[in-house]
Amino acid sequence: MGLHILILGGTTEARTLAGALAEGRHAVVLSLAGRTRAPMAQPVPTRIGGFGGAEGLARTLRDEGFDLLIDATHPFAARISENAAIASRATGIPAFALRRPPWERRPGDLWTCVDSVKTAVAALGTAPRRVLLAIGRQEAAVFEAAPQHTYLVRSVDPVDPPLMLPDVRYILATGPFGEADEQALLIEHRIDSIVAKNSGGSATYGKIAAARALGIAVILVERAAGHALPAVGTVEEALARIDHVSAPERKRGV
Ligand code: NAP
Repeated sequence: MGLHILILGGTTEARTLAGALAEGRHAVVLSLAGRTRAPMAQPVPTRIGGFGGAEGLARTLRDEGFDLLIDATHPFAARISENAAIASRATGIPAFALRRPPWERRPGDLWTCVDSVKTAVAALGTAPRRVLLAIGRQEAAVFEAAPQHTYLVRSVDPVDPPLMLPDVRYILATGPFGEADEQALLIEHRIDSIVAKNSGGSATYGKIAAARALGIAVILVERAAGHALPAVGTVEEALARIDHVSAPERKRGV
């Protein structure tokens, strides 16, 4: 008998982990927030939409008989991660986070690190800049406070409503984004500043490497302080941890 596992997803890592577990002995459900209009096909059964806060998540864990909760949401999805920690504590159902480590500054990086998207707006300064905005669409509207810049906004789904800015263009695209393509994009649009989140991982690192190569400034939004769950950094470590959690249950089954 395997474990009944709920993975909170919306990331490449969650999909990869689900794929690695799909053919095994565990029964896995992947949960998505439902933000993306056309989510990618997933390798395991999927549920979509919020649970109704930490209590709703706790109820789902209990009522549906889950043995393990894995928070594999995006490092900037703070509320669901907090809810996961609370629900695990409330139910006693074990939980851990799969969270890719943040990018580290390398020689040549022209980073200004800020603690929120709002602070990133101020960090752009008053002089007009040509900005690649790569923070997703949910918080893009805060840049309406700095209409002096020219913006190229990249997101998976359209920014809706469109931004009230005089000079803005949109690109719809889903990663991974390679360094060479990112360099070409930055040159084509004469970008001099990138605003990005320190998401970590390789899928969106291309723009960071391209900025370094071209001497372009990056305003990097850092993550908030970590939440309460123990965390692993890779899918392999997550699989080892699942083995560890299922070990007593495996002995019982023999
Ligand atoms: P958030 O602020 O932490 O979560 C807001 C609410 O959305 C949660 O309270 C929960 O609603 C629901 N929710 C979030 N993730 C969920 C999941 N995997 N399954 C079911 N419900 C979920 O999250 P967010 O920043 O809006 O991000 C939403 C999703 O997009 C996340 O799953 C994340 O992995 C993905 N994502 C986010 C970013 C980013 O930069 N924030 C980037 C890429 C992907 P209830 O309280 O009703 O349960």
